[in-house]
Amino acid sequence: MHYLDNSATTKVLKSSADASMETMITSFANPSSLHSFGYQSSKNLLQARETIAKTMNVSTNEIIFTSGGTESINTAILGAAHHMKRYGKHIITTEIEHSATLNTVKKLEGQGYRVSYIRPDINGNISIKDIQNELRQDTILISCMMVNNETGAILPVEEIGNLLKCQNHNALFHIDAVQAYGKMRVFPKTLGCHLLSISGHKIGAPKGVGCLYIHKNLNINSLITGGGQEFNIRGGTEAMPNIMALSVAASYRCDNIDVNYSHICELKEYLQEQLKCNFKDIFINSPDGLSFITNFSLMGCKSEVMLRILGEFGVYVSSGSACSKGKPSHVLKAMGLSKDRIDSALRVSFCPESNKDDIDALIIGLKHCIKTLRR
Ligand code: PLP
Repeated sequence: MHYLDNSATTKVLKSSADASMETMITSFANPSSLHSFGYQSSKNLLQARETIAKTMNVSTNEIIFTSGGTESINTAILGAAHHMKRYGKHIITTEIEHSATLNTVKKLEGQGYRVSYIRPDINGNISIKDIQNELRQDTILISCMMVNNETGAILPVEEIGNLLKCQNHNALFHIDAVQAYGKMRVFPKTLGCHLLSISGHKIGAPKGVGCLYIHKNLNINSLITGGGQEFNIRGGTEAMPNIMALSVAASYRCDNIDVNYSHICELKEYLQEQLKCNFKDIFINSPDGLSFITNFSLMGCKSEVMLRILGEFGVYVSSGSACSKGKPSHVLKAMGLSKDRIDSALRVSFCPESNKDDIDALIIGLKHCIKTLRR
């Protein structure tokens, strides 16, 4: 099998699965239980929180465990909007955000908030100037991804943090770092954000776990009320097997960012070379994106049909975000790409375990697609 859809989700690392299994069948006590068995679980929970905090250079009590990226993003945006409501009702985001962000700000629009959506350029890049032009006195929140999940475009998050600081602006800043964390350095204090979301299943941990960084001076409301867990921000018995698995995967991925990054850059170069020399009518849709993701269009070949044919060769890629389920990509549309280019777009996304054999298999599969579709 040649799995090249790692932006949709990743295979769980063996070490991460082992940590989960150990927690499920051996160290399974509730961390809130007062007996010594429960106390051991609460120590494990603290250790997992410390591990994640260390990967981001933040304090332990600034990390809240959640059920994943979507919950973190919802908590951040709705919490920030509620916290800041007396200062204004204007939010800035981009047109290329994940639906977890877009549908959450849409919900706020229904409650009287006004949202400015920044449009990307033809290469999928967002300009800091455009964000600066939208920033107003009553802006209370900027929510923006660090890396786009469909194109790999890297957004100017550090510049946004600097902009708010230079203007002494009191708007809150949330970063969706789901596609960046574990692949590049993600340090909230350097980025100047107040909130930052990550997800476990993009970095070799199981689905259903993630975390939210919340700056220690920020007091946001909980989405899920319950027994006071997670500093009263996220009620419910902690999903200890998932949390322990996340901490193992996070520390493994973050300890190896540099070595993984150079491997992935080599792979991306090889992939682009192979694509360009084997296919004439090809467009690389986000040439300067993070190397983990390559989005390209093979003109005249419909994405869904190519996905099916590639699947027969054991090659798994995506036509866009896994969440968009066959709908035309809102990201490529926002970039202003032609319908033909959107309809024939494929996303290849690597993980550190990907290799050149995967790319060779992809190229063989694509040649077969062309033969079948352009017959
Ligand atoms: N944000 C981005 C950029 C994503 O790619 C995803 C998942 O694809 C999410 C948020 C949602 O994360 P989760 O699947 O953990 O809810």
